[in-house]
Amino acid sequence: MEYIKCDKCNGKGIVLEKEFLGNICPKCFGNKKLDWVENIVGVKRKFSFEAFSSIIPDEVVEHLSKEICLGIDQYIMEKIIKNGKV
Ligand SMILES: [Zn+2]
Repeated sequence: MEYIKCDKCNGKGIVLEKEFLGNICPKCFGNKKLDWVENIVGVKRKFSFEAFSSIIPDEVVEHLSKEICLGIDQYIMEKIIKNGKV
């Protein structure tokens, strides 16, 4: 498969717009390159956590991971409580 450098971020994987996840390119999702299909339809659900964590400091990634875990726990707890099976 031939890859094309992402034209949105010019192959950097990040853009200088501040509206999207710490500047990660919204077209290639930090993958920096696209195959021809992706170049037309865009990258879907191929978010690169590697690219994300290389841009965001480790402490922040760790913090976000904890937040996500706590959020999931909360969701499960609420479900259990609502079902009245505690
Ligand atoms: Zn890009």
